[in-house]
Amino acid sequence: MVFGLGNKDKNKAQAKAAPATPAAPVAPGVASAMPKATTLPRGPMSGLMQDWKLTVDKVIEHAHFNHGNREIVTRTVEGPILRSTYSDLYWRARQCSNALLADGVQRGDRVATLAWNTTRHIETWYGTMCIGAVLHTLNPRLFPEQIAWIINHAEDTHVFYDTTFQPIIEAIKDKVPSVRRWVALTDKDHLPKTTGVKDLRDYESYIGGQPKDVVWGDFDEQTACGLCYTSGTTGDPKGVLYSHRSNILHTMIGLQKDAIGIGAADTTLPVVPMFHANAWGLAFSCPATGSKLVLPGAKMDGESIYQLLDEEKVSFTAAVPTVWLMLLQYLEQTGKKLPHLKRVVIGGSAVPERILRAFEENYEVEVVHAWGMTEMSPLGSLGSMTANVLEQDRETIVKYKLKQGRPPFGVEMRVTDDSGKELPRDGKSSGRLIVRGPAVAKAYFKNAGGNILDKEGFFDTGDVAHLDPYGYMQITDRAKDVIKSGGEWISSIDIENFAVGHPAVANAAAIGLPHPKWDERPLLIIELKPGETATREDLLNYLNGKIAKWWMPDDVAFIEKIPLGATGKINKLSLRETFKNHKLPTIQAAE
Ligand code: ADP
Repeated sequence: MVFGLGNKDKNKAQAKAAPATPAAPVAPGVASAMPKATTLPRGPMSGLMQDWKLTVDKVIEHAHFNHGNREIVTRTVEGPILRSTYSDLYWRARQCSNALLADGVQRGDRVATLAWNTTRHIETWYGTMCIGAVLHTLNPRLFPEQIAWIINHAEDTHVFYDTTFQPIIEAIKDKVPSVRRWVALTDKDHLPKTTGVKDLRDYESYIGGQPKDVVWGDFDEQTACGLCYTSGTTGDPKGVLYSHRSNILHTMIGLQKDAIGIGAADTTLPVVPMFHANAWGLAFSCPATGSKLVLPGAKMDGESIYQLLDEEKVSFTAAVPTVWLMLLQYLEQTGKKLPHLKRVVIGGSAVPERILRAFEENYEVEVVHAWGMTEMSPLGSLGSMTANVLEQDRETIVKYKLKQGRPPFGVEMRVTDDSGKELPRDGKSSGRLIVRGPAVAKAYFKNAGGNILDKEGFFDTGDVAHLDPYGYMQITDRAKDVIKSGGEWISSIDIENFAVGHPAVANAAAIGLPHPKWDERPLLIIELKPGETATREDLLNYLNGKIAKWWMPDDVAFIEKIPLGATGKINKLSLRETFKNHKLPTIQAAE
């Protein structure tokens, strides 16, 4: 079945002739026909509503009182599937708080985790945040030296970690003097035997026996709550310091129907790790709604993810494209289907068309393409369909679905030229994407990098994009990855997305190489699927007609494995280094 809405139990939209595209809205603050006020307003009057502090303890308390028996299913790092509830999470997080308090943790102290998505990990989040300490997620995919650098910069006092990461801990333990306590997220029986970690505790004994009474949330809503470092592909990593208020508002932003939009009847599988931009807020939005929560632990291969999707009847899930490539490959090999899954949010990097079509056309699962970044908590835009788009034919709908989506209420978005002038929302004019909102960073931790906002309070995302009259944003590149040819910009993302559509291609990357005539020209780098073959000419013929002539790569190079960074994205820095001496055949002709 081919469908535009993508939702199994919805009526199919009738394809109609495309309506005329609306005119681009006028930028705010331009002409206004409003009559000028003739008298000055009186002094402001305060509203008479309650001052209900926006602190995250409210989230888990809500889950405990309203959805206490709703299940949390974890694939434990030790192996077996563990079944617990939101009330279990609530009580154990309180014990975790008491363990931390007994261990001398004070408000504002940074408590780090190096951990997979499990219920113990979520307990440490609430246990830390609800007493006014700051939960700092560490990304285990970074090199040990980078992790040590980040711990030292954050001055973490405690580190909770999964035993899978014992080798990382051994490598860094003597290089991080601020850490007073290491806790392995396991029980006594599974504590690593041979370890040089001093006074190592296992999590179960650490929180076991602690009282369940504790004062939570007795601080201002602007109190720091979480810390996450950006990957630092340019310069040192920088810490984004979330507040309780920003996390609550981000949860509410995410819970809009056109955003994450889950509810109490959903079963949610956050495959996106909690250490990668807060699992896109799902550790808050699931308890806030009472969605059943399924946590994949350390296993994210196609078969393990399929097993959870199927056995737990998951209706909603979220992850980066790489994870879905593995799942789709598994489904193709086994002929299995996805009868329960309704909606999948894909983001972190652009969704290739073949993933979108496979989910929607072969498995009847609605794909929502999302864009965001650590600095935005991270949700920035989501590709739910508007009424006008749904009235159009399937191929037009697919084009809209491949865009990065629309900002939900709570995110302001503009595209500007290099001088800061706002560009029209015409679906063509590409420029710097800037954002503003209550869950967007206003500075980095310890003011790294200085002022990051423009004079109107907008944050420059470093992405290059255009906005269309329906509000859809499309990323054409990261500012630093864009290929500048003859004064124009070539989108590396577009070339890559078409190239991965070739049946022999596992992954593709386009980078700009210096060119004497054009400044830069694209080189396409290809990783082939195991056992497949394809030549330079095959690839160029395949792209011919799909992209503009002047975007055609000047050459194609093959590589065994395209390097990925710590959040699963193509590491262009490393590819630029590898191919810096590659001679484009067009250079000779130009000379
Ligand atoms: P990192 O810098 O570690 O990759 P982020 O997760 O914060 O961390 O990355 C944010 C960046 O990822 C965005 O600025 C954008 O360049 C890219 N990105 C995220 N989602 C998408 C998407 N759907 N399409 C294209 N690029 C995306």
